Amino acid sequence: MIMKIGVLALQGDVGEHVSSLNFAIENLGLDAEAIEVRRPGELAQLSALLIPGGESTTIVKQLKRFGLFEPIINMADAEKPIMGTCAGCIVLASKLVDEVGPRKVEPLGLIDITVNRNAYGRQRESFEKPLKIPGFGYPFMGVFIRAPSIVEVGENVEVLATMDKEPVMVRQKNILALTFHPELILDSRVHQYFLKMI
Ligand code: GLN
Repeated sequence: MIMKIGVLALQGDVGEHVSSLNFAIENLGLDAEAIEVRRPGELAQLSALLIPGGESTTIVKQLKRFGLFEPIINMADAEKPIMGTCAGCIVLASKLVDEVGPRKVEPLGLIDITVNRNAYGRQRESFEKPLKIPGFGYPFMGVFIRAPSIVEVGENVEVLATMDKEPVMVRQKNILALTFHPELILDSRVHQYFLKMI
């Protein structure tokens, strides 16, 4: 049976991730396809789930509205790979800094990292920087857009890439989180890495 990789399609860079995943699937020669998912009932068929960048406040609000919050936690407990980029990284985190008031975001708590939601966004709206990622060969161009920063990582978290000594790509078992946007460039190596986690 063809493997299905879900892209959470509530808000954000959905189409770009579907294309990047399909590009990575083709490069790896897998019998799989990327699909958009919006409802709890659609999660059971998935081999992995990707939470895109966008606006974490909106994504979490929609997760709750559609009853997806618990089902995604259950999916992680069942050891299915879950990847989050930018707002998706915020959504996966165990802790967020400076969250007060009505716009407070309650994250899923699936990876032991503390994230500052708009850390780079306050200094510079967006920028690009080549990143050295072990096993990737030549550098990967990191595209940062109103990016969060990972300010603390737990002892079971593996730091896969850093920028100016700060973690930008981290993994804890089946959970992969990155603060940049790998779906915006024609390079599927991060998506390939994720697919290899299945
Ligand atoms: N800082 C944004 C947030 O809080 C994320 C930005 C992005 O995903 N490009 O959701």
